[in-house]
Amino acid sequence: MARRKKIYEGKAKILYEGPEPGTLVQYFKDDATAFNAEKKDVIDGKGVLNNRLSEFFMSGLNAIGVPTHFIRRINMREQLIRSVEIIPLEVVVRNVAAGSMSKRLGIAEGTALPRPIVEFYLKDDDLGDPLVAEEHIIAFGWASQQDLDDMVALALRVNDFMSGVMMAVGIKLVDFKIEIGRIWEGDFQRLIVADEISPDSCRLWDVESGQKLDKDVFRRDLGNLVDAYTEVARRLGVLPTNVTHASKPTLIN
Ligand code: UDP
Repeated sequence: MARRKKIYEGKAKILYEGPEPGTLVQYFKDDATAFNAEKKDVIDGKGVLNNRLSEFFMSGLNAIGVPTHFIRRINMREQLIRSVEIIPLEVVVRNVAAGSMSKRLGIAEGTALPRPIVEFYLKDDDLGDPLVAEEHIIAFGWASQQDLDDMVALALRVNDFMSGVMMAVGIKLVDFKIEIGRIWEGDFQRLIVADEISPDSCRLWDVESGQKLDKDVFRRDLGNLVDAYTEVARRLGVLPTNVTHASKPTLIN
């Protein structure tokens, strides 16, 4: 493989310099982390599934006019993306109470919310990504009021799309996290969906059984994570390419 310049390495992905200015290559690792990296493991095949699933969701969003950083998938673990200036906030949308919101507010997991709730968390590992109010975001300059309005609108469009796509295959989108980046087009700037959308960053519950098909399987030791993600991919018709189920060895000339 040609030597490439590593731009950034995070917990689950690596970013490399892209082939053209304004692009990056995003590589999906098999590493899984939870609780601010206190729990860690390497889960064979997770990166391949997340690369494929993120491609599926992001290209679907692009197709309906919700802008994302996704350009194209390169191979099993890599995709070409637009380089963005990441806004230092995690944007969470919730349809059903779960996780940190249930704990913080004492609302039972599984309680349907009267409307989607959008929350912002500051991306800061040292602080454990604290929940922040819009007032904090404006006062400390993490984003402008215009950015916030655009981020809420983007997040709700992603929620509508993702909820519909998942419901069509019998899965409830409980909540998810996205990251948003700024791109410059001449003098104008625009916010687009960045990072990844995958079962690592969503809560996905089977509509019938309530079975969890997301990273909670890892966080809460509920079973095999790759089996859960494979089930999501299978229902969406998005299985890793190059997987053949030949019944006997085939001679290749
Ligand atoms: N989430 C994420 N990365 C984070 C924190 C949360 O992808 O660093 C996702 C998580 O998978 C869930 C949603 O955001 O789908 C809401 O997470 P929550 O605030 O309940 O935190 P948790 O209890 O999952 O840490």
